[in-house]
Amino acid sequence: MRKGEKITMNVPLLDLKAQYTTIKDEVKQSVDTVLDSQHFIMGPQVKSLEEKIAKYTNCKHAIGVASGSDALLVALMAIDIKPGDAIITTPYTFFATGGAISRLGAIPIFVDIDPKTYNIDPNHIEAVFSKKGVYGSRVPSSGSRIKAVIPVHLYGQSADMDPIIQIAQRHGLTVIEDCAQAIGTEYKGRRVGSIGHFGCFSFFPSKNLGGFGDGGMVTTNNDDYAERVRVLRVHGSKPKYYHKLVGMNSRLDTLQAAIIEVKLRHLDKWSEARKKNANWYNSAFEKAGLVDRHLITPYEVPGGRHIYNQYVVRAKNRDALMARFKEKGIGTEIYYPVPLHIQECFTDLGYKAGDMPHSEAAAKETMALPIYPELTTEQKQYVVDTIKEFYK
Ligand SMILES: *Cc1c(COP(=O)(O)O)cnc(C)c1O
Repeated sequence: MRKGEKITMNVPLLDLKAQYTTIKDEVKQSVDTVLDSQHFIMGPQVKSLEEKIAKYTNCKHAIGVASGSDALLVALMAIDIKPGDAIITTPYTFFATGGAISRLGAIPIFVDIDPKTYNIDPNHIEAVFSKKGVYGSRVPSSGSRIKAVIPVHLYGQSADMDPIIQIAQRHGLTVIEDCAQAIGTEYKGRRVGSIGHFGCFSFFPSKNLGGFGDGGMVTTNNDDYAERVRVLRVHGSKPKYYHKLVGMNSRLDTLQAAIIEVKLRHLDKWSEARKKNANWYNSAFEKAGLVDRHLITPYEVPGGRHIYNQYVVRAKNRDALMARFKEKGIGTEIYYPVPLHIQECFTDLGYKAGDMPHSEAAAKETMALPIYPELTTEQKQYVVDTIKEFYK
């Protein structure tokens, strides 16, 4: 900051208090109902939220679990993933996507992203089966042990599902959609979570539909899978104390369900506000002559619905711009600074820097801007002015 310059405004990356203020009474009433009932585990609010989420995502079943991470884990357990099985996914995601695979002793096969959308590139999925390039030595010797693919709908935009489903059908893969950032996202008019065999959702507070703690949901259109997930979340028991499967303790709290049910009523309005903010930024950056010269704004795939869990730009001189944001009181974050294939815990998988060039470039060049629904025009203008000033 130049001498004497003041932080004139505070623009956090996300302001949950601003949202809470608008729904406080509704939430408190809903929480009180649970407190009065003292029915904390699998209370009626869980079932009622499951029905609403099933409807919202256009799925036959929705099953509450303790987190988005557990949703992924339970989906993999439901298809009986065993040590030595392999699962294809993107390295450019939150850790949980790869972590769920590893926790079952399975091998993540990371494939690079499309640099425009930051989502998994179907061409690279196909390359795994033809053992091209980096995949040559990595794929289990009989391709048959590759069991599933986990596309992630990153930042709230759908991965390119048609070719993914085609490849999956050709090779007999289960498709598990990581929808943690994408509730209400659409691909060619279809809600994510209803396109593959499973959808895995998160109610972590910073997601578009966030609880007041952890929570998650698994969606599926398959009755058998739904039944397995329901049993697995209660230690694999059915009836109680009789165990056919070794499951886990992963239920959605009644309190969380009661809160999320209230917030679901507002979700579409909030997602539209995020989209409006994205459009506002896009045209402001365009007008300022920053686009493509200094900034690459998010690419929206035509025919989809992007819910902007994050608004991520590729910025020239990113680290210095982030430092400027900090001086000016603007929140920002890198999603994600280290792609999974080069995380320390995955060293034994044998990947090296350079293997996934698009993911690695994105990790070095991108940053998130505040996009939350309650942002004011003054706050957005302050963000834009700060960036304009920086590149001058
Ligand atoms: C948040 C997130 C998860 C994990 O969800 P939790 O509820 O935090 O366990 C998984 N995948 C992606 C892409 C996420 O953003």
